[in-house]
Order: sequence, then C-alpha cells, then structure tokens
Amino acid sequence: MNNIPEIFGSMVFDDKAMKKRLPIETYNTLIRTIHDGKTLDTDIKNEVAKAMKDWAIEKGATHYTHWFQPLTGVTAEKHDSFITPDGNGSIIMEFSGRELIKGEPDASSFPSGGLRATFEARGYTAWDPTSYAFIKDDTLCIPTAFCSYGGESLDKKTPLLRSMEVINKQALRILRLFGNTEATRVLTTVGPEQEYFLIDKQMYEKREDLKFCDRTLYGAPAPKGQEKDDHYFGTIKPRVMAFMKELDKELWKLGVLAKTEHNEAAPAQHELAPIFTQTNIATDHNQLIMELMKKIADKHGLACLLHEKPFAGVNGSGKHNNWSLSTNTGENLLNPGNTPEKNAQFLLLLSAVIKAVDEYQDLLRVTVSSAGNDLRLGGNEAPPAIISMFLGDELSDIINSIIKDTSYDRKDADKMKIGAKVLPTFFKDTTDRNRTSPLAFTGNKFEFRMLGSSFSISDPNIVLNTTVAEVLDEFATRLESAEDFSAELKMLIKETLTKHSRIIFDGNNYSQEWVLDAEKRGLSNLKTTVDALPKIIERKNIELFTKYKIFTEKELYSRYEIMLDEYSKTIELEALTMLEMAKKDIIPAIISYSGDLSEIALSKKQLSRKISTEVEEKTVEKLSLLTSSLYNAAEKLKLAVENAKASEDSKLEAALCKDELIPLMNTLRSAADEAELMVSKDYWPFPTYGDLLFSI
Ligand code: ADP
Ligand code: MG
Repeated sequence: MNNIPEIFGSMVFDDKAMKKRLPIETYNTLIRTIHDGKTLDTDIKNEVAKAMKDWAIEKGATHYTHWFQPLTGVTAEKHDSFITPDGNGSIIMEFSGRELIKGEPDASSFPSGGLRATFEARGYTAWDPTSYAFIKDDTLCIPTAFCSYGGESLDKKTPLLRSMEVINKQALRILRLFGNTEATRVLTTVGPEQEYFLIDKQMYEKREDLKFCDRTLYGAPAPKGQEKDDHYFGTIKPRVMAFMKELDKELWKLGVLAKTEHNEAAPAQHELAPIFTQTNIATDHNQLIMELMKKIADKHGLACLLHEKPFAGVNGSGKHNNWSLSTNTGENLLNPGNTPEKNAQFLLLLSAVIKAVDEYQDLLRVTVSSAGNDLRLGGNEAPPAIISMFLGDELSDIINSIIKDTSYDRKDADKMKIGAKVLPTFFKDTTDRNRTSPLAFTGNKFEFRMLGSSFSISDPNIVLNTTVAEVLDEFATRLESAEDFSAELKMLIKETLTKHSRIIFDGNNYSQEWVLDAEKRGLSNLKTTVDALPKIIERKNIELFTKYKIFTEKELYSRYEIMLDEYSKTIELEALTMLEMAKKDIIPAIISYSGDLSEIALSKKQLSRKISTEVEEKTVEKLSLLTSSLYNAAEKLKLAVENAKASEDSKLEAALCKDELIPLMNTLRSAADEAELMVSKDYWPFPTYGDLLFSI
C-alpha cells in the first residue's frame, strides 16, 4: 500500500470534498457552522444535499442513511435509496435538503426509558454538520442526532455536543483572563485506545455463550494462560496481520486516524489506537472502529470479541479515553508551559480537573458501569471501582509545595527554574507512569482507564466536559471580579488543591491497602453497576446537568431506567443461555460419558473380576455428584430468572440479578468447569479455553 495519502479520507465528504463541490459562499457558511458552532443557514441545505449526493454516487453509493447513536450504545441506520420516479417510467437519483437535515425513523424499537409513549413511535434524526458524512457499504451515511418528538434526546451524540459547547464557553472565559484574545474556540480532544480479542470463527460458532452474550459463560482455565507474558507486543500472527491491514485500510478510507496496532497482555488480545481528534468525531470514529472490527474479522474467518471480559481468569478488554483541551489555534491547554503565565494557566486548569473529578467521582463511576465491566473493574487487571488520579512525582511535589507554601525544590535543580513570579516553572513529566490508576495525567492529557471495551465513549466525555466546565465557570466568575488577579489566582489554586488533594493517589491502585486508605479519605467505592446507577438521579447531579442544559431531569430519569434495564437484560440473557447450555449440552455430555465408562467397567468385570475398575468407578461417582449439583443449580436459576423477570420495579429487578442470579450462575459454572476437566475431550460439547485462546 503506497497510496495511503490518496485513500485517506477518500470515502468522507470532508473539507476538501466540500471545497471542491460547493459554491464558495455555501462552503464558507457551512465551515462557519462546523468550526464556530454557528447555526446552519437553512437556505444552503439543498445545495449541500445535491453536492453530497453527486459525490456519493460518483463513489458508487446507491443508498443513503441517517447514521445515529441510540442509547443501545451501538449505531443505527435506516437505508433509503436515492431512486425517485421521474414520472415517465424511469428513475432519477434524488436527495433533497430536507432528507439531508431531517429523518423520521420508526423509533419504537430503540430504548427511550419511558420518554416516548408507545403510541408516539416516531422519533426524528437531525443532521450534525460538525461530523462529516461518509460512505460505508455503498451507502452515504449522514451523522445525526436522534430525538423524540417532544424534543428529548434519545441518543449519545446530542448531550455530548451540548457538553462540548458548555466547556468551550467556560474555558474561553479563563483564556481571556490570561490575556489570550486569539482563540475563538476551545475543543476537547480524545484518543480512545481500543482493546479486543480475535478468535477462530468456526470455534466461536460452536459456542452459544459467545454467539448470544459475546463472552464465555463456562470454561475451565487452559493449562497455559498469560503468565508467561509472551503475547504482549509479540509478533503478530499472519492471519491477524491480514485482518489488521485490511482494518487499517478501511478505516483510513473513512478518515479514521488508525495509528498503532499491537498485541495485548492476554493471548488472542490486541489493541488499536487512533491519533486523537475532537471528541464528537473521536466518538463517531470509535463506533466505526468497533463496527468494522467485527465485520472485517468475519471476512477473515475470525470473530472479534468486544466484551469487557470474554474469558474468566484472563485479562479483559478496556478502552482508554485520553482526554485533553485544545484551542482552535492548536494549543494543548493541558501542556505545562515554559513561562510563569502559561504555568499558572496550566495549574489552574489542572486544579479544575482535580476538583471536578473529586466532586463528581460518582458520576464518572456511573459512566463506566455495565454488567460486563463489573467483571473487570477491581480484578487486578483494571482499576478498582474507586476513582482516583495519578499525577506523577514531579507534579505531585509541586502540588504539595503549593499546599504547604514551601518553595518547590528538587535535586536536579538545573532542570527546573524555581521561584518564578507566581508559580514554579517545571518541565513535563512523561517518564513516571502508573498503569494501575483510573485517571492518570500522562504529560499533556488525562487518561481515563476504566471504560469497558464495548462502551461508547460518549458518556465519560459528557461527564468530564460538564463537570470541568462547571468548575471553570466558578473559577472564571471569581477571577473576573478579583482586584488583584495574581493574588486571587494563587489563592484559588492553593485552596482548590488543599481541598481536593484526597483524590490524588500515586500508589498501587490494585492493592488492598488502597481500598482501606480510600475509605479513610472518604472516596466513594461503588462496587457494582447496581450500586452506581442510582447516582445519576442524585440531586446534585441532576442540578449539574440541568444547569448547563446537558440533560433535562426527564432525560436523566430515562437514562437511569435504560441503564438498569440493560443491566438486568444482560444478566438474564446470560442466565438463560447458561441454562440452555447446561441442559442441552453439558449435562447430556456428562451423562453419556459416565454411561460409557460404566459399560466399560461392567464389561471389564465380566472379563475378569481381577481387572481394576477403580478409575471408571471413581470418575462416574464424582461426575454423578457434579451432575446433581449442576441440575439443582439449574433448577434454582430457572426459578430465579422467572422471579427477576416478573419484577415490576426495575431497580428491584437489577438487584435480584446481582444478588440472586449471579451467585447461582457462579455455582452452575464452577460445577460445569470441574466436570470439563474430567470428561474426555471427545465428549465435551464445545471448544475449550485452550482451543479458543490459542486457535489462531
Ligand atoms: P500510551 O498511552 O499507550 O503510552 P500515547 O501516550 O502515545 O500511548 O497515546 C495514547 C493515546 O492518547 C493515543 O490515541 C493518542 O492519540 C492520544 N493522545 C495524545 N495526545 C492527546 C491529546 N492532546 N488529547 C487527546 N488524546 C491524546
Ligand atoms: Mg494508554
């Protein structure tokens, strides 16, 4: 592939394509909308639609769709062809401005958490001109927001765009205070690193748990796991390499800056990291990455698993959300500067993030909650459910010196210039990294590491943007009215850091001591999704979101309901799948193996009473006990599922799933896994962990 610059973005109606195909005034109006968040002039919609259609048809597209992100966390499309009868028995290819800006998909099949009464099945989609249209599968995809007819948002894009507006406004106030008159916009930027598993498709097909739930519900550990660490950054197998190459190429065509592909810690696990971009686009792109991973894997005879924990006892998959703030003039605002003024601005922004995270730990925790991620957080492979921040030695020293009013001093003093006008000057620290921290400052950005691999990155970014914006709002108000700006600034930073430094923790987050220490510090520890979700509708959080018009109270309640429902449905589906596998596959396999062993024992005995049948007898005896445990656990689980499903109250249902179903599922699994280790491979009904993890 030596034509990468040529194919990059070739399937995107991007700036280049627009410039080429739109009259200059139309182009300028559109660009103002895209770059400065100005409202779109409706007069130009027909011109844009026509240019877009002509471009798409030249690229081979026959259909168009509004592409949106409902609350299922994946994307949705409804395809229409461009074909329109011309009235003379032929057709013409048409696409109007109206079709571009508004769509009316039947919304009844998407979750609304009670926002859309069933008689009002309609919802509508509205073009988001800040995200470029693109072509996928011969279809012109138009990124859109998705709302109910009452105007409530039913998607992950609308509130994200709102939160970006809010932080833009507040961050600009701060920049003006520091004399920056050039920047006209502050954007949040994100680079999400995506982990995933690849296994052989034929083996995948043989397991109902993988097909229905995207994770294994049974499976004894393979003799070889990840203990030798030989997979991490190891050579990539040819089949995986072919997959990665095609994936990169398809992503590049869509303008996705796929940059690094490598193996991860667990066998069969890999990672893709794109170059960062502005948050709404990064969110769209991450959805495309996940979708294409699945599709392209399939073409290569592989199955891509995006579940947070596909295999028990093997590292699960996460998503690292690297987040920063940048001006439209290209300045990264979380880059420590090399002048006292820049440093002061940096320290103020840093203090704002620290305060925001400390005050809204619970909300951040909510955004990484799901049945799948519960299996991962705190399991010595991912951060625990306690939110804390890592800043690195140097920054921590500086913060301590600010809090204690001591002068900041370090051994290698020639690298540091100390005692500048307002605050100390320092260099960025990228060497010291703490891989166990949920939210680590990594030199010029924050890396939020708690997301599960299948998540949309929208929610965590909505929370980061909105909470930081609220703090900046408060800071700006205070500083704008200060008589002595420098003195007030110094006091504000000191005050904020003193009050919120409990959230900073540079030690090992996986350790048991940290759990105790965090409790002493008063940090929240919401262990499971069921514990975390009710925080969405806590008063202070409703106030935050409504104050900045990110969500209405109704929208928050609807999201709460949807997340609860999603949790319960996931666990119930897993339980039902386990039951089916136990009754139709596992128990029959054990019985038939035991039966054959018994017959062998009998015929041995008939041959001669001197032949030992000890192994057969003991095995049959043990398996018989395990079969009973399996059977009984299955019966109990069946009743528990029925009971949970019958519950009228969604909070109660989720609690039943957590407290009744999960323990029974664990019992069922441990009996089956024990049996797996005793039953001959020829009888076991599906591929084992060894087969799945080392199949490629
Ligand atoms: P790692 O975390 O594996 O050491 P890097 O530090 O190179 O890797 O970057 C990880 C991710 O962070 C990449 O996706 C990168 O694009 C993203 N990133 C880098 N700078 C920024 C930034 N200013 N804003 C948002 N994301 C960023
Ligand atoms: Mg990383």
